[in-house]
Amino acid sequence: MPPVNRNQPIRANSSDSEYTLMDFMREFPDDKTCLEHLWRERFAPDGKTADCPKCRKAREFKRYETAQSRPSWTCTGCGHHLHVLAGTIFEKSSTSLHLWFYAMYLMTSTRCGISAKQLERELGVTYKTAWRMAHLIRNKLMAQDTEPMDGPVEMDETYVGGRSRYRGTSGKGRGTKKQPVFGIVQRGGKVFVTPVASVQSATLLPHVIERVLPASTIYSDELNSYDALGHSPQGYNHRRIHHREKVYVSGDIHTNTIEGFWSLTKNGIRGVYHAVSKKHLQGYLNEYAWRYNERHSPRAKFSTLLRRATVL
Ligand SMILES: [Zn+2]
Repeated sequence: MPPVNRNQPIRANSSDSEYTLMDFMREFPDDKTCLEHLWRERFAPDGKTADCPKCRKAREFKRYETAQSRPSWTCTGCGHHLHVLAGTIFEKSSTSLHLWFYAMYLMTSTRCGISAKQLERELGVTYKTAWRMAHLIRNKLMAQDTEPMDGPVEMDETYVGGRSRYRGTSGKGRGTKKQPVFGIVQRGGKVFVTPVASVQSATLLPHVIERVLPASTIYSDELNSYDALGHSPQGYNHRRIHHREKVYVSGDIHTNTIEGFWSLTKNGIRGVYHAVSKKHLQGYLNEYAWRYNERHSPRAKFSTLLRRATVL
């Protein structure tokens, strides 16, 4: 075995992590690298040439290290500035780009989520800043897409939340009520999950019609709200599992995939975030959906998030 080079740590083959903190630090060692990355991704793939909106053609741009507060590159033809952070979630933040990237790395590399308190400690920022960063990452970068599913899909409803830790053990008061949540998952594919006002048919069906392509096979439990699925104009092939009769799997008729997702999400929220208010539930659901949807590749998880950050 070759001697270990402590300056170049390498990952053990048995590690299931495909993108370690060391990999991250090598790729993004400082603020400058992060800024350069955004510049190349957003404007200049070669780091030099970008389309100048004023010259209306490709021009060489230069970065002048001045005291300017907004980082920009300048057109060598006309002097026009391209502001690299304009329109991104980083634009109005005084937190360094490196810390933002690190926060994104942390949020994509944990299995169950990371609390704002933990982010505060890891990043060395205030709690308020840590909370705001996590909030923006969840609600902007991790926002769920609207790509339709073409089955077989499973759908199910559940309730998230409950007792608030701020209000003792009585469980009474605002913010303590359990929130109904609706989820659809394509077997082997992505999940879509959203808080809903109720689990009535009139609330759930529009989500199904929007997300699930006609003629798909849909598996659900026996909740009455799903009755209309079998004779909808979309021609869904609706199969139900009878949980009330203690039947959980019958051939390929089951809702185990979505139930597995519920258990990950609920355990995570209970363990990491404790109480989640109705107002912020969508963000947390986005985060768990994101992790699930990108589950096949830890490496891709971070880079997909980073790519989102450059196009928003
Ligand atoms: Zn120009």
